[in-house]
Amino acid sequence: MKILLQFPEGLKQHALEYARKLEKEGNEVYISASPSFGACDVAIDEAKQLGADKIVHFGHAEFMHVDFNVEYVEYHIDADLSILEKSLSLIANYKKVGIVTTVQHVHQLQSIKEFYEKNGKTVFIGKPYGFARHNGQILGCDVGSAASIDKEVDVHIYFGGGLFHPLGAVYATTKPFLSIDPFANKIIWLDEYREKRKKLEKGLILSSLNAKNFGILVSSKIGQYNIELAKILKNKLEKEGLNAYILIANTFDFDSLNNMLEIDAFVNTACPRIATEDYDRLRKPLLSPAMLEELLKMKKEIKK
Ligand code: SF4
Repeated sequence: MKILLQFPEGLKQHALEYARKLEKEGNEVYISASPSFGACDVAIDEAKQLGADKIVHFGHAEFMHVDFNVEYVEYHIDADLSILEKSLSLIANYKKVGIVTTVQHVHQLQSIKEFYEKNGKTVFIGKPYGFARHNGQILGCDVGSAASIDKEVDVHIYFGGGLFHPLGAVYATTKPFLSIDPFANKIIWLDEYREKRKKLEKGLILSSLNAKNFGILVSSKIGQYNIELAKILKNKLEKEGLNAYILIANTFDFDSLNNMLEIDAFVNTACPRIATEDYDRLRKPLLSPAMLEELLKMKKEIKK
């Protein structure tokens, strides 16, 4: 069988090991060297160009149905749960606890739930909006597992490494948010990020008030491609007498975008986290579709 292997950045170090194994089994193996940040980004074009029979996509759960033979190989890590003990004093005043994690630890959710229940808590595990596959799982673009239980819980807990995943959930919720990172052996409250993001969004909207030329970002990655939304936003801008141009790329190069000197503000329809993680790599403001709505509303108010 002709197989294309695809690994996210953190797992590319294992690429040759898997390639050798599959070659020994008699397969013709290719490795995608393109950057891969999520299961939204399945290398279908590369596979079709190679005439591959199958893509083996490592590290992520299925994101959406794609019209190609794709095998998703989730990557699970058994993290040390003894760190949970240290979180108890921090959440002593909260009874109802919501728990979220990444796909790497979804198999540990049940043990985490039992730990908190044994310590007198009522535990809630929410459902994702649709891109994440498992209850309690969050993705950078699907924090439904936290947002869907926000009204019910007193506190949210994220279990896992890094800040990328929990911050998306922090922005979409209103309750105190604790992060437990078993790799860094660190437990921290993330609520200050929520306030910082709100202020930042306001600043970006205000600095777009006089923008005339808008560049709307559309990614050609299969799970990010949203040309319909881009067209709707373009129409809205043009109705207000503004100019809007749709800019398409697979992975956006921020230097190339910065070279488009005539663009006064960018609007993101690709991975929603570009607007939260990469806004400072652009010289002009980068808005999410919701921020654009806010900007148009503000402009109408000013005109009155
Ligand atoms: S759209 Fe963004 S956050 Fe969602 S899976 Fe893709 S890279 Fe991750």
